[in-house]
Amino acid sequence: MALKGNFRRDTIITHAGLDPESNHGIVNPPVYHASTITFSSVAAWDEAHKPGYKGYIYGRYGTPTHRAFGEAVAATEGGHGCIAWPSGFAAVVGAILAFVKSGDHILMVDSAYFPNRRFCDNFLKNMGIETTYYDPLIGGGIRDLIRPNTKIVYTESPGTGTFEIQDIPAIADEAHKKGCVVLMDNTWSGGLFFNAFKHGVDVSIQAATKYIVGHSDAMLGTTTCTEATLPAVEASFKALGYSVGPDDIYLGLRGLRTMHVRLRGHQENALKVASWLETRAEVARVLCPALPSFPGYRLWKRDFTGCSGLFSVLIKEQPKPAMDAFLDTLRIFRMGASWGGYESLALPVSNVLHRSAVPWTEKGTLVRLHIGLEDADDLIADLEAGLSRLTQVAKAA
Ligand SMILES: *Cc1c(COP(=O)(O)O)cnc(C)c1O
Repeated sequence: MALKGNFRRDTIITHAGLDPESNHGIVNPPVYHASTITFSSVAAWDEAHKPGYKGYIYGRYGTPTHRAFGEAVAATEGGHGCIAWPSGFAAVVGAILAFVKSGDHILMVDSAYFPNRRFCDNFLKNMGIETTYYDPLIGGGIRDLIRPNTKIVYTESPGTGTFEIQDIPAIADEAHKKGCVVLMDNTWSGGLFFNAFKHGVDVSIQAATKYIVGHSDAMLGTTTCTEATLPAVEASFKALGYSVGPDDIYLGLRGLRTMHVRLRGHQENALKVASWLETRAEVARVLCPALPSFPGYRLWKRDFTGCSGLFSVLIKEQPKPAMDAFLDTLRIFRMGASWGGYESLALPVSNVLHRSAVPWTEKGTLVRLHIGLEDADDLIADLEAGLSRLTQVAKAA
């Protein structure tokens, strides 16, 4: 790493993993397109296969571009090391498989990213690994669900679609007492607004597709680990045969350098839009952790240092044509899966509201908003037009 010393987060995110001296002074590392990496002697080949070898062996295990990205993310998150995966979900799957074998049990938060549930209920079940879903607000009560064969306590905070803030330190305390590892999907905070390792997390997972890449143009995942958990996650990565393409890893590195600036922009706009939505008669609740009215606000304030651009708004019960008219009227907000790019998005949440530990019973329609980097007043005007149209259609129905 070129810059050595004790620096603050914004400095680390801009410089970590850079090494211009080894590349003609050029700021960014080259994008290595590599499969075969050659050796000129048997001795060199043998050396490369000894434990602790620091060079490169094969394209699938990464190039200097991958290493620069991994170092930069690990430094940003304050972890020991980071492994990149070809998508966020690949990172989720790889992190789980690193710590379980047939006969084990895992605890999965009820508000997790929906494909996690599909993976646990089908794939893990078929491998003889059992899953129990738990209330995201369980806190230290997690101790009662931990069995002798429980290996993982999986957390995601805030929860997908509904934004429950988990008491990660309390959960981690109990998990560690019983020898479980704590995995956290830390995508919402970009690994920047929540310091996973200071709060007891052992592996911080991100869909880097979202804020790290930040421009809606690549799929990427990360697992940032402690010294103790890195070897298992590394072994899982190698065993599963994944590899991340050179251009995607580069886009991740490129995005990361400005993530802190973008996140502050998302935060500023999100707070403005969320506060405005709270004043609207059509709105039942705004599910945004940074609003004092939100039940998770106290924990968010205690553990997080910022709010990113993703939250939900609960629209009071309306006939479907009125809800559809609201979303169809929006011009800046487009509908789309994913988020974390510079652009604003809106999405009805019903398809991700699968809960088994604590069923979702609130009346109305949840709409998940990703607040982008446009002008906040233009975003508010767009939502205002949508809500007026909703009222019009509802009255006519
Ligand atoms: C998008 C997302 C994922 C999956 O990431 P992909 O890159 O789409 O595979 C995982 N967790 C959360 C919270 C996400 O939003």
